[in-house]
Amino acid sequence: MKPAVELIDVNMVFKNREVLRNLNLTIPEGQRMAVTGPSGAGKSTILKLIAGLVIPTSGLVIRHTCRTGYVFQEPRLLPWNTALENVTLPLIARGEKRLNARKTGITCLADMGLSGFEHSYPDQLSGGMKQRVSIARALAIEPDLLLLDEPFTGLDPALRESICQHLEQALSKKVATVIHVTHDVDAMIHTANTLYTLTTPDTLVQLPLAG
Ligand code: ADP
Repeated sequence: MKPAVELIDVNMVFKNREVLRNLNLTIPEGQRMAVTGPSGAGKSTILKLIAGLVIPTSGLVIRHTCRTGYVFQEPRLLPWNTALENVTLPLIARGEKRLNARKTGITCLADMGLSGFEHSYPDQLSGGMKQRVSIARALAIEPDLLLLDEPFTGLDPALRESICQHLEQALSKKVATVIHVTHDVDAMIHTANTLYTLTTPDTLVQLPLAG
């Protein structure tokens, strides 16, 4: 199996705080990885390193994928854009025609249960709706690498279940590598086939995943 992402001897120090020490990890294409561990252990930092949002203090991060979808803990929508514009922006930025981007955006919002809210601005949406817009934005580009950072926090259980199912469906259509930081066992079952836990700076260990 070809690697999707490689982390080679990665060290990450923020000011004087050592967060990751000599992290070596090869994530094969198509792997669906859940990462758990205590708060502050460095899980989000791993995602940011993989996305290229932070640079390691030393070591190498190699991404072999082309399209990264990233769902952050908070929605991070552009407040001056509508829900639809937020979803279509990355598509248009990639060179897609506006009409096609619009069609994709409308479908992705509908998949998230947001039909009728395409032209709403973020401040007209609830926290859960904004988060669903951000999930639609990540899926709209048909990512071959999907980074999920506790994306379902704040969603009520029924909604979370339906979004997880949609995500599972979207992921089953193509080979995508998924790295999902979560404490949510139910959500993990939908997206992961491998489970890792990060505790101290140098211990990212694979755990058996029941079922
Ligand atoms: P987790 O996702 O496991 O909760 P994080 O990766 O968010 O942990 O953070 C790990 C540690 O790194 C925390 O102590 C956090 O305060 C620190 N940290 C993360 N990002 C930065 C930053 N940009 N500057 C300084 N410290 C940071």
